[in-house]
Amino acid sequence: MIIKSNDKPPLYLQQLEALMRRVSSQHPSYQKISDRYRNFSAGYAGERALNYPLSLLRFSPHFVFFDLRLQNANLSFFQMDCVVITPYVAIIIESKNVAGDVYFDHRFRQMIRKDQDGTMAMPDPIEQVEGQRLQLLEWLDQRGYPRVPVEKLVVMTNRNAVLRSSDSHEDALKYVVRLDFLTSKLEQILVPYIERILPKKESTQLCDDFLAQHKEYFPSILPPFHLTQDDIVKGVICVACGAVPMARCYGKWQCPACQATSKKAHLSALKDYALLIRSWIFNYEAQQFLQIDSRHTVKRLMQGAHLSMDRPYVLRETINFSI
Ligand SMILES: [Zn+2]
Repeated sequence: MIIKSNDKPPLYLQQLEALMRRVSSQHPSYQKISDRYRNFSAGYAGERALNYPLSLLRFSPHFVFFDLRLQNANLSFFQMDCVVITPYVAIIIESKNVAGDVYFDHRFRQMIRKDQDGTMAMPDPIEQVEGQRLQLLEWLDQRGYPRVPVEKLVVMTNRNAVLRSSDSHEDALKYVVRLDFLTSKLEQILVPYIERILPKKESTQLCDDFLAQHKEYFPSILPPFHLTQDDIVKGVICVACGAVPMARCYGKWQCPACQATSKKAHLSALKDYALLIRSWIFNYEAQQFLQIDSRHTVKRLMQGAHLSMDRPYVLRETINFSI
């Protein structure tokens, strides 16, 4: 049973998408944003690919959590792509969506990818998931949960990847699996665990605890890319052709480029503001961002969107997330 799904794109991915929309392609940071967006969006697609094989898992009961981010004892966070909880054992799954020729190098603990763009060394995902495993064990211990064993697995989600490792690299043979074999590998892992460590009450409590303690990654997105608010393109973006800004006339937004009209296009702009700049906005800032020269129009739009009547307006609802 999926308790925390991966249906909604992570906020960080939404932030990168908003940057792609609102930073000029001529900006010196654009390439860096675009690379980050491509990598992160491939990672998310890989994580989504886990849904089907996990839906085939017959083991009962089991609880699946995608993209879980918890705080460890040092107050730093650790993030897991997927965690499967059963009363007998927990399994952390790290997904990697990497194409090309992939070699697991155990001598230097790295993953080497070769494709048409060249050779690239990447962190060893087996080491990464082992780090998460140790932190999860500590996290469970601190909350007084019974000592449930925690297993780990790396899933290569890209079917075009050619996987290789040296014969002596036992960890790669044991912990790395292709997407098509995920279900059978999970069932194989579960077989030896026959002792029920988490009774029903504790399992339910752990599920609640995971959801309550999860803190989604939502950084200040401008500084890492050396951007300021001035680098963000203002105005309402046309949903039909992407031109900016749409003009406000007769109670609607109209695109000067393709003539498309919209009544709600300002909501996407306010969402971009919340993702990129701040989760609240003063009336004069909204006038600037939406390119409207009337405070009364802004007031009407905010009321129409049922946004908070606080001063400043609170934009949390636009991203459906409490910050
Ligand atoms: Zn247009």
